[in-house]
Order: sequence, then C-alpha cells, then structure tokens
Amino acid sequence: MTAAPRPVLLVTGGSRGIGAATCRLAAAQGYDLAINYRSEEAAAEALAAECRGHGVQAIAVRGDVSDEADIERVFTRVDHELGRLTHLVNNAGITGRASRLDDAPPDDVRRVIDLNVTGAILVAREAIRRMSPRHGGSGGAIVNLSSAAVWLGAPNDFVWYAASKGAIDSLTIGLSKELGAENIRVNAVAPGLIETDIHETAGLGGRIERLAPMVPMQRGGTAEEVARVILFLLSQDAAYVTGAVYRVTGGR
Ligand code: NDP
Repeated sequence: MTAAPRPVLLVTGGSRGIGAATCRLAAAQGYDLAINYRSEEAAAEALAAECRGHGVQAIAVRGDVSDEADIERVFTRVDHELGRLTHLVNNAGITGRASRLDDAPPDDVRRVIDLNVTGAILVAREAIRRMSPRHGGSGGAIVNLSSAAVWLGAPNDFVWYAASKGAIDSLTIGLSKELGAENIRVNAVAPGLIETDIHETAGLGGRIERLAPMVPMQRGGTAEEVARVILFLLSQDAAYVTGAVYRVTGGR
C-alpha cells in the first residue's frame, strides 16, 4: 500500500513569532512546509532545517506578500518544489508605529493595509487556485490571522490595524461560504496579547507587562499557544468548522 501524500502548507511571515511556532508544530505533525519570510533569510533557513529534522520537506521562500509579483513567485516555488498546496496560514502582518490616527504617516497606514488586507486577500486567491476542484485541486484549509483589536479597537495605538483585521474576519466569513461546497474550510484565529516582537516593532516595549493585569488570565500568551489552535483548525479534527473566528486571548 502506498502512503498518502503529505499535506502541503504555506505559512506567510513564518520566520518568527506565531508563524515560526506554527511551522514547528506543523512539521512535527507531518506537513510539508513552505516558510515564507521577507527579510530574515538566516532565521528562515535555520527553521526550515529544523523542520526537515521531522522527516518532512521544508523550504524557506523569500517574498514580500504585500507585492503581487512576489506572491506569484512564492507560489511558483511551492508548486515546483513541494507540489499542490493543500493548506495555508495567512499570518504575515504588521501594525505600523503606534500613534493616534491623526498623527500617523499615511504611508505607514498604507503599508499596513497593503500587507494585512490586500496581501492576505491575494495570497488566499492564489491558494484557492491550488485547492479548488475548479482548478484541479481536491480541497484544503485556510487559517487567517485576525486580532482581538477587531473588538477592542486599539485606540491611541493603531486603529487602522484594527480595521485591517476587521477585513480579515469578513474575508474569512465570505470565503467560507464561497468555498464550503468545494471542500475548502476557511477559519480565523484572533489572538490577544501574545509575546512576540510585534509590540517592540510598534514602539510599544513593555506592553505585555503593562496590559497583562487587564487579561482575565493575568498574562500574555505564547506564540505556541496560538499555533496549537491554528493547527487544530487546519486539521481534520476541525472537519466541520468553517467561517469561525477563534479567540485566543486568555479571556480578554
Ligand atoms: P512578528 O512581528 O513576530 O512576526 C511577523 C512576521 O511577518 C515576521 O516573520 C515578518 O518577517 C513577517 N512579515 C512582515 N511583513 C511581511 C511581508 N511584507 N511579507 C512577508 N512576511 C512579512 O508578528 P506576530 O507573530 O506577533 O504576528 C503574526 C500575526 O498575528 C500577524 O498577522 C499579527 O497581526 C497577528 N496578531 C499578533 C498578535 C500579538 O500580540 N503578537 C495579536 C493579534 C494578532 P520579516 O521580519 O522578514 O518582515
């Protein structure tokens, strides 16, 4: 009897944070992996080597997923080196520098929307063109990264980022309905306060310690705690779950 082919997963922004934790768990669970990164080649290559230690294929794929030509190049490499994509984690995301909206540079706001909204939608588009029976595929699963900012609003920090993640929830719900009959499930995970570089990059060092008392569980979460829910939603354990936005917030 020949073994079933391994599922093929692309994680955008996989070089660190929640994306990297997702790649580690996915490799341990037997997914072949494309680890997309924008700038951190050494980290992405080292992670790919670590993942191959689980006996799966894993490649690091450079590409800015806010750029249409780069998105095409990423998918072409996945097609050639791993085969037909079956799973996607639409993870790459930025906040821009924290400020009130009236003080935010328009270019910063545009970069956030270009990546978090346009990039995520165009990445999903390419993934669906591999997964859908309309294009020769046999189904798959997508998990998009939303945020607790959707309902908290992120006032004084990055309301434009909150708005971008609201778009992710709409994308998730719409695609789940568009693709439900094609064996493609689409869900989102909405993390709360998670210990990654994203806060420091926004100029908000010490944010986890400051905000932890406002979290019912009294702490920030880890990237792995988010990744575990992502892996559940990708898996057949979630075979009848689509269009859901899972909160991973310690109750916040
Ligand atoms: P990090 O800042 O730790 O990591 C972001 C990753 O995205 C990096 O690997 C980065 O690579 C990559 N990336 C950034 N821009 C691009 C781009 N244009 N093209 C490709 N890759 C890119 O973030 P987190 O792990 O914290 O966040 C992951 C997701 O989770 C995001 O969508 C975020 O909005 C969401 N989220 C996070 C929360 C948190 O508290 N951490 C809370 C709610 C949601 P590089 O360095 O090379 O640019």
